[in-house]
Amino acid sequence: MPKRLSIAIDGPAGSGKSTVAKLVADRLGLTCVDSGAMYRGVAWRALQAGLSPESQPQAIGELAERLHMEFRRGEDNVARLFIDDEDASQAIRTPEVGKMSSVVSAIPEVRRHLSRRQREWGLNGGVVMEGRDIQTVVLPEADVKVFLTASDNERARRRLKDLEAQGVTTTLDEVLRDIQARDRRDSTRAVAPLSKAPDAIEICTDGMTIEDVVSTIVDLARTVEPE
Ligand code: C5P
Repeated sequence: MPKRLSIAIDGPAGSGKSTVAKLVADRLGLTCVDSGAMYRGVAWRALQAGLSPESQPQAIGELAERLHMEFRRGEDNVARLFIDDEDASQAIRTPEVGKMSSVVSAIPEVRRHLSRRQREWGLNGGVVMEGRDIQTVVLPEADVKVFLTASDNERARRRLKDLEAQGVTTTLDEVLRDIQARDRRDSTRAVAPLSKAPDAIEICTDGMTIEDVVSTIVDLARTVEPE
């Protein structure tokens, strides 16, 4: 079977990756893989188990290896993350899990287990995978590599809107501080830090509509043939 298209979309928290990746995947008939949801899944379970990333990194690494994770499409056609057969899609979206996910994602063993699974899913193509290290580590051979950015304030505003829609009470200042702390951790960690691949196309989404961003990526995808 010929290899199908693979698209890697990376960028900092709140750059719009998830929304854009889902729409690009729908439009091109590809499967969307939200790699951040997997780090959030490990963080959620580590919190439930009361594991400390500082003193028990090994136990969290083992947890990442053990957890059964699967994306299943619901009736609304939205992919949901099931962890050990439990729908975790809502539980992993809290600010607490967001913060913890960026801490556990710095544990090399956690990254090793999750990026191996992500690579297996992506190797045959047919995917839009989004995260922090997809174009640099997980699928460096992706046919299309996009690095999405936006200003800190714009990203905080978008994140606040998402959180409010989920009924979470917070403020713009708090979300901004949280995003900046997460960016710092994600960009400075020793293993697979957030960075743009030299051959990736950077799109700053300030002032662009979601449709503008989606059609830019779809157009790019249509100009490349999978190798
Ligand atoms: O994308 P999202 O905000 O859901 O990701 C949660 C956290 O998971 C990020 O802050 C980052 O620390 C981590 N992550 C990662 N590598 C990826 C995807 C997410 O380290 N490929």
